[in-house]
Amino acid sequence: MQVRNGEKLLQKYGLKANDAILADEKHAPIYDELVTEHEVTYVAGGAAQNAARGAAYVLPSGSVVYTGAVGDDDLAEQLKEANKREGLDQVYLVKKGEKTGACAVVITGHYRSLVTTLRVAEKFEKSHLSSPEVAPLIKAAKYYYIEGYFLTHGVESAHELSSQASAAGKTFILNFSAPFIAQFFKAQLEQILPYTDVVIGNEAEAEAWASATGYPDVKDLAGIARSIVLLPKSNASRGRVVVFTQGAQNTVLVTADKPDEPKIFPVDALTDEEIVDTNGAGDAFAGGFIGALVAGKDLDGAVLAGHKLARSCVQQVGPQYPWPKLNI
Ligand code: ADP
Ligand code: MG
Ligand code: MG
Repeated sequence: MQVRNGEKLLQKYGLKANDAILADEKHAPIYDELVTEHEVTYVAGGAAQNAARGAAYVLPSGSVVYTGAVGDDDLAEQLKEANKREGLDQVYLVKKGEKTGACAVVITGHYRSLVTTLRVAEKFEKSHLSSPEVAPLIKAAKYYYIEGYFLTHGVESAHELSSQASAAGKTFILNFSAPFIAQFFKAQLEQILPYTDVVIGNEAEAEAWASATGYPDVKDLAGIARSIVLLPKSNASRGRVVVFTQGAQNTVLVTADKPDEPKIFPVDALTDEEIVDTNGAGDAFAGGFIGALVAGKDLDGAVLAGHKLARSCVQQVGPQYPWPKLNI
């Protein structure tokens, strides 16, 4: 649920301009307030689904399938419609009588403040992964992606999926998603990191991870990436890759074979006038990056694809991708 010119909302609810948090009691009224007092644009989310939509955007239809928990309400129907339009398949766990999660997206200038109420999204059940509908899809998949946000409530499911993927020698990708994940869910991250082949994050998440783990220089993106690349890995046959974006600044990529030689990819920065809002930029990057990897591109090509899709995303309202399709 996205609103523009949200300066007063930031003040009223004590929000930072560029942040991502979970709603607590004092934020509870914001969702009704948005509907009654503001002009709301509804866009599909959350983070992993946006990345999945991004990957679907760059791949032939039928390539990407998403799961998560939704209720049997209007919001769930909107999500299904949006996914269908964009060629993303879904196998939701639908919980009767429950409400689908929502995110208040408060835009000020180019910044976005995300306030999420998980509702049924935090009631995903591990048993859904072994259900007759989902198990064959997991078995057949070659790449898996999970958002860090999921670790606030779904670490058992994440562990099940990541350990399966790793044991089968397939590619498991984790996005840090938000600074508070590294800050408050470090133990959960540490449980999943051994199974990761690719870790994606932004500069604020890198910094939070550095602080949480005692890395000496919280601004040293390449060094922080290197420290994650070198963490223990359960599938030793393939080295880990860590990629950090930082908005309009260079993207940094570190690989296990050359951990001391970070690759730096400049971003073709947009002017202020060209940007609509940056909500979903990192998810778009992840979607483009993974889509390109699945399509057989190398890491350099995948970063370029991520940049291209993210660049087009920040020129749309919220986490949306341009139609007709760009050639990514
Ligand atoms: P997150 O949304 O996770 O904070 P970033 O802000 O790092 O992610 O943005 C991800 C990507 O989006 C960047 O690597 C870049 O490709 C694109 N992007 C973000 N801001 C801009 C900008 N001002 N101009 C051009 N591209 C941008
Ligand atoms: Mg950012
Ligand atoms: Mg992000």
